[in-house]
Amino acid sequence: MAENAAPTVKDDTREPIRAKEIDPKFKYELIKHHGSEKLLKCFECGTCTSDCPVARYSDSYRPRTILHMARLGLKDRVLKSDTLWLCAACFTCTDRCPQGVEVASVIRVLRNIAAEEGIFPQVFKDQCASVLESGYAYKIPDLRIKKREQTGLPPLPKGNPESIRKSLKGVAFMKHIEKKGEPDAKQ
Ligand code: SF4
Ligand code: SF4
Repeated sequence: MAENAAPTVKDDTREPIRAKEIDPKFKYELIKHHGSEKLLKCFECGTCTSDCPVARYSDSYRPRTILHMARLGLKDRVLKSDTLWLCAACFTCTDRCPQGVEVASVIRVLRNIAAEEGIFPQVFKDQCASVLESGYAYKIPDLRIKKREQTGLPPLPKGNPESIRKSLKGVAFMKHIEKKGEPDAKQ
């Protein structure tokens, strides 16, 4: 593993492929989404992976592999892959792809589909729940607020969770976010 490597995430990209896993229609479903239209133009050169700053520090994150899995129709596998969530959305891959494939956008589309199905890391679910509750992705502990007061720092601006909740009404992944004090909507 490279020095300063990111924490290891489950890498199922190298598992043998079973025919029953393949959904041949998946790639056609994907190219209907804005940003994914050129997915089928990929000729596997690997430029996206070689220039990706995240791939440089990860043994498992490979944008070319993610796109390859998507084109092969490994829908479940790619949507459930932990590596999907490592992309930093820096768009280097999109800028460098010789085929004009919007790699970062394809990854965004895959994430959106996964999120709609409730397949996304718990940390993001927790952040969403916190935003809905307080307006902040990270709920600032009372102790921290007290310390600010003691040191003479001004109070933090109040979040506006009400307006956030309004904006997110109808967004598909929201049904998978556990609201504080309410049972998990996905159950
Ligand atoms: S840079 Fe473009 S063509 Fe090359 S592997 Fe990545 S997506 Fe495919
Ligand atoms: S957008 Fe994601 S996949 Fe593309 S280079 Fe940046 S981190 Fe890598």
